Amino acid sequence: MPNLKDLVIIGDGFAAAVMAVHLLRRGIPRSSITVIGPGELGKGSAYNCASPFFRLNVREDLPIVFSEDPLHFARWAQQNINDAQAKTEAGYFYRRQDFGRYVSELITHESEPYQLEQIKAKVLSLSGTENNWQLELDNQSTLIAKQVIIAAGNPSPTWSCKVIHHQSASANSRSIENPWTGYFLEDIDAQENIILLGGGLTALDAINALEGRKHQGAIYVIGPRAIFPPAQALWQKQGQPVWPQKVSPATIVRFMRNYLPSAPTNSPEWQSAWEELRPNLNSLWQQFSPHQKKSLFKRLGWLWSLYRFRASPQTIAAYERLKEKNQIQFVTGRAKEIQCSASKVTAFLENGIEVNGDRILNCTGVAPDHLLHQLIESRLAIADPLSHSIAVDQNFRVLHLLGGQWNSLWMIGPGTMGSLGDVIAASAIAKQAEQLALELVQGV
Ligand SMILES: Cc1cc2nc3c(=O)[nH]c(=O)nc-3n(C[C@H](O)[C@H](O)[C@H](O)COP(=O)(O)OP(=O)(O)OC[C@H]3O[C@@H](n4cnc5c(N)ncnc54)[C@H](O)[C@@H]3O)c2cc1C
Repeated sequence: MPNLKDLVIIGDGFAAAVMAVHLLRRGIPRSSITVIGPGELGKGSAYNCASPFFRLNVREDLPIVFSEDPLHFARWAQQNINDAQAKTEAGYFYRRQDFGRYVSELITHESEPYQLEQIKAKVLSLSGTENNWQLELDNQSTLIAKQVIIAAGNPSPTWSCKVIHHQSASANSRSIENPWTGYFLEDIDAQENIILLGGGLTALDAINALEGRKHQGAIYVIGPRAIFPPAQALWQKQGQPVWPQKVSPATIVRFMRNYLPSAPTNSPEWQSAWEELRPNLNSLWQQFSPHQKKSLFKRLGWLWSLYRFRASPQTIAAYERLKEKNQIQFVTGRAKEIQCSASKVTAFLENGIEVNGDRILNCTGVAPDHLLHQLIESRLAIADPLSHSIAVDQNFRVLHLLGGQWNSLWMIGPGTMGSLGDVIAASAIAKQAEQLALELVQGV
């Protein structure tokens, strides 16, 4: 007879931890909650990093876990983090590993004097029906849960093109499929020429870490555009935009364009206006049809990612230093194949360009999620409007094929973006956890 659980949270990252914290704070007994995830609860893909050069991309007052105490992390950081490099003109930007420590401490503190039950495994599949969910784990066990919250986060990157290793151990070590932890840095020689496939925040993390380790070799950044996100400035929301009554994707774009000043995107002025626009975007997004969401994302998705996810000032400063020494070179295009031999790695781009180096890092972002895919395949869930994840309603209930929603299966975190808008950052996820915990105790 499989194990019977009341409420299972799938995932071990920030979302799973803050979900558990808010459930406990709302009085859900510790004994009713089981977390399933392979690593230390609270760290996940984002904050379980070995490299001290990987920093939060937001200043200290922005990762808000408790809406009634927004400066909880900022205070904790002052007391518990020893990091002389954290302070910048735009605020304190702490190491991601220290933020992971904060989240782990939160959950330990909240469940004291005992630990929350955590099964150190991955959920391979989810089946069943209302209040009777069957979970198959990768440790060969199966369990039944009455309620399930999916908080599986950002699936680790996988190669977006074919990678061929010409049979040797050294050929294998030339390609780093998942650089998020930073463990790969130990193996890199300062003279190596490094290829970064992808030009977003993961590539910038790698650049900051390489610069911090006094890297001497060239760094080639392959991406569709030769541009990095700007550094965070010391922005402050001042005004509140008055949005038009009726919005379409086209009116949103026009309104935003008119609202943003002509100042540079790394200026406090521009970023303040951008941040003033953001709070309303999720509710506007939720009013759009799936077709409108898709077309807006297609038109503006890349621009959104560029300016929404700005980097820490330390990271951009490291990039600027390497740029000044001519160590960074952008190569525009998309890779179609990568070949690794014992002596080198070559990236073949669709436009015919070949880029040679000693090592290649996959900085292309999240991969598809197998568990969510399985839920769609088994018709327990439907795809979200962007076909990135599964669809949820405004109460985080997973939508199913019959046109309704489950009342005992929810999802929070980055996977809800296609349905609910911009929910990638820690504070947006914590807000979801707060709301869902309240709904669960109120039985909404
Ligand atoms: C590299 C990186 C850096 C980031 N930096 C910032 C930042 O500086 N500031 C910010 O606000 N946001 C940042 N983010 C955004 C991030 O989405 C959120 O801040 C937050 O960490 C997401 O938490 P999560 O728990 O949903 O996801 P994750 O951090 O991805 O954790 C999910 C965890 O669930 C586990 N899991 C997945 N599938 C299963 C399964 N089937 N069974 C069991 N366990 C499973 C995974 O192993 C993983 O450990 C970053 C994201 C990434 C990927």
